[in-house]
Amino acid sequence: MTHLMGEFDGKVALVTGGSTGIGLAVTRRLAGAGAAVVFCGIGDEVSAAEAQLKSDGRTAVTGVVADVSDAAAVGDLVEAAVSRYGGLDVVVTCAGIQRHGTVPETSEEVWDEVLGVNLKGVFLVCKAAIPHLRARDGARDGGAIVAISSVQAFAAQDGVAAYSTSKAGVNGLVRAIALDHAAEGIRANAVCPGSVDTPMLRWAADQFTDGPGGGRSQDDLVAEWGRAHPLGRVARPEEVAEVVAFLASPRASFVTGAAYVVDGGLLARLHVLLPDE
Ligand code: NAP
Repeated sequence: MTHLMGEFDGKVALVTGGSTGIGLAVTRRLAGAGAAVVFCGIGDEVSAAEAQLKSDGRTAVTGVVADVSDAAAVGDLVEAAVSRYGGLDVVVTCAGIQRHGTVPETSEEVWDEVLGVNLKGVFLVCKAAIPHLRARDGARDGGAIVAISSVQAFAAQDGVAAYSTSKAGVNGLVRAIALDHAAEGIRANAVCPGSVDTPMLRWAADQFTDGPGGGRSQDDLVAEWGRAHPLGRVARPEEVAEVVAFLASPRASFVTGAAYVVDGGLLARLHVLLPDE
């Protein structure tokens, strides 16, 4: 991998939801390959992540507290990246929340919250970032957008109506951006993970340990979800970050409007019951 170490030298990246989970792995991966990275989150994890990344030797990283569902905060976030590091080349939208509920169980407030962060948040970030991503200094290629979507953009799990809807919307938004901005050299792609071992997955497991999965530990449930994936386990955040880094790099120069599934084979399987031999 040494030939890729300086792949993002001189590039500036913005990573939303970069304080934990997949976004933190993406921040670490891009910064490790030479990018200056501005990342955001909404809690105390932002400053903790910045301190950790700096102590690991990633000096050109800046954490900002910004809610991606708030247009003014997103405008300030993008301006912070551009003014601090002199431009913007890569945008990775990882900020996301998970809420459970069928349509009748989902309140209007929860629907607006999930769609506000997971879908409108991607729209707001791209809206503010695209003018800066256009090719600069006579370069042929513009910037790259990578949106973290989900396998739930293609196949829904029970009881996550708002979340599934938001992720299907992200894939549609990515296709629209890819078409509308291809002539400016901007590429946009979605990454659709299966289960990934992050605080979000651990939180989701906690919702079941006292309910339908009662009596089982968080680790047992995560392992069980892992066995649903043909590779037999859930992903590590770094395995998703690797695909993001590829799509953000010039190695993916002819890839746009795509949805990359990173799911250990989860969507490859049809659940058809065969009669006993
Ligand atoms: P995570 O560990 O919970 O991280 C979520 C990140 O988003 C955190 O940095 C959080 O910041 C930030 N965030 C939440 N609400 C925000 C808001 N309103 N504005 C700005 N930042 C906000 O989750 P993850 O598992 O890494 O998920 C990352 C993305 O991958 C999400 O879009 C998720 O839907 C998607 N995904 C995850 C899985 C999985 O199995 N984990 C599978 C498929 C897709 P704070 O820490 O400050 O709250």
